[in-house]
Amino acid sequence: MVHVSTHPLVRHKIALLRDADTDPQTFRQLVGELGQILFYEAATDLELTPVTVRTPLADCPSEVIWERVGIVPILRAGLGMAEAMLRVLPKACVWHLGIFRDHSTHQPVTYYNKLPPVPNVDVGFVVDPMLATGGSASATVAILKQWGLKKVKFIGLIAAPEGVTVMRNDHPDVPLYLGAMDSHLNDDAYIVPGLGDAGDRQFGTA
Ligand code: URA
Repeated sequence: MVHVSTHPLVRHKIALLRDADTDPQTFRQLVGELGQILFYEAATDLELTPVTVRTPLADCPSEVIWERVGIVPILRAGLGMAEAMLRVLPKACVWHLGIFRDHSTHQPVTYYNKLPPVPNVDVGFVVDPMLATGGSASATVAILKQWGLKKVKFIGLIAAPEGVTVMRNDHPDVPLYLGAMDSHLNDDAYIVPGLGDAGDRQFGTA
């Protein structure tokens, strides 16, 4: 399942995010806001359990999420999305997976893995602003599945068709929640028109 958001707030904020004149502080804020909105869209099927809450007036039949949620930011660009998602669901776990793209081979290299020994959640949301070649996202999902996680979803802000194809082929069971679908990758595997390097633009390292 590939879900590209049509929400006007997403379109508006992605336009601001793409703008080369957007400064790192605003860029980080937009990454967080978009992460939260797309998290809402990706979390519509989280399972609920009935509870009774006592309001100041009466007992009220209510529901709370029972599934344990893990957020897996692909470092470093996924960090801004993960922090904002945690504000929506503060009890979620955050697992850090460091994967960088080798600039000559464009292949993902895992340099940091802080997953606990056994899965302690029911659903994992892999987050990376850019789904470019799909190499890092696919490698991350493979690590999570090998670790024993059954339910995985991916949230990205901008995708290239090449990355979507890789994810569809490698992990057809993983739904993709995206803010926008762009034209193509250039020879350096950057998304066109894209927004440049999402890590550099968040952290002012361009
Ligand atoms: N990573 C980025 O930050 N930008 C791209 O366009 C592709 C990968």
